[in-house]
Amino acid sequence: MTDAICYRDSYANRIEAKVMAVEAAVPGGGALIVLDRTVFYPGGGGQPADRGVFLRAVDGRSWQVRAARRAGAEIVHELEPDEVEPPRPGDRLEVDLDWTRRHLLMRTHTALHALCGVVWRDYGAQVTGGNMEPGSARMDFEFERMNGDLVDAIETTVNAELDRAREIRVNVLPRDEAFAIPDLIRTKINLLPAGISEIRTVEIVGLDLQADGGTHVANTTEVGRIRVTGYESKGRINKRIRLAIDDAALASGA
Ligand SMILES: [Zn+2]
Repeated sequence: MTDAICYRDSYANRIEAKVMAVEAAVPGGGALIVLDRTVFYPGGGGQPADRGVFLRAVDGRSWQVRAARRAGAEIVHELEPDEVEPPRPGDRLEVDLDWTRRHLLMRTHTALHALCGVVWRDYGAQVTGGNMEPGSARMDFEFERMNGDLVDAIETTVNAELDRAREIRVNVLPRDEAFAIPDLIRTKINLLPAGISEIRTVEIVGLDLQADGGTHVANTTEVGRIRVTGYESKGRINKRIRLAIDDAALASGA
């Protein structure tokens, strides 16, 4: 079982780990590496998996890691396909995330939750799905009356909420306790598999609470500002809002 550090410490981005298992590359893919512990996020909940580098200090060898994914209780890292001679079981490696990309994903993910919180609080609209890339994202809502004016108002409100320096708290709750929280029920935790005994929650204090497996920043000020970059109808009821992290606004003080 891989110790998956990202779920309890989203800021951990470099650790030492031991190689537990190695599977040779197949055509089109890279070698697969299982470690005893890792800082890589394996993807899920709309947040893509991390990338990074493995370094073997004993001989200075390094490998590019292009992705990670969950396989049962383990997190499997996939090397770039052109990496030859993968590390061996028992090797000690330095595990180094592409932190610039991951931190931008954390800001983007927290921005999406702020958007969800505002749209639910102010318009009673539920989320139906979402996806993100570093710095940009989309979120779908059951939001029949959405229009351009509302979207402008939502952008302003989300930025005001981010400015309020709201703390982000991660908790792990027993299933029964989580199912008693109304805010979690509305985000459809009842759709989670029956076998899950604990539920991880991410709370933007005073704004949003969701069952969530992703990595987030610690405070909304770290997100900075967002820009709504588009919206579209995916049907009479289902609407999509696109957003981007707006670092240009921060730089100009806008
Ligand atoms: Zn999320």
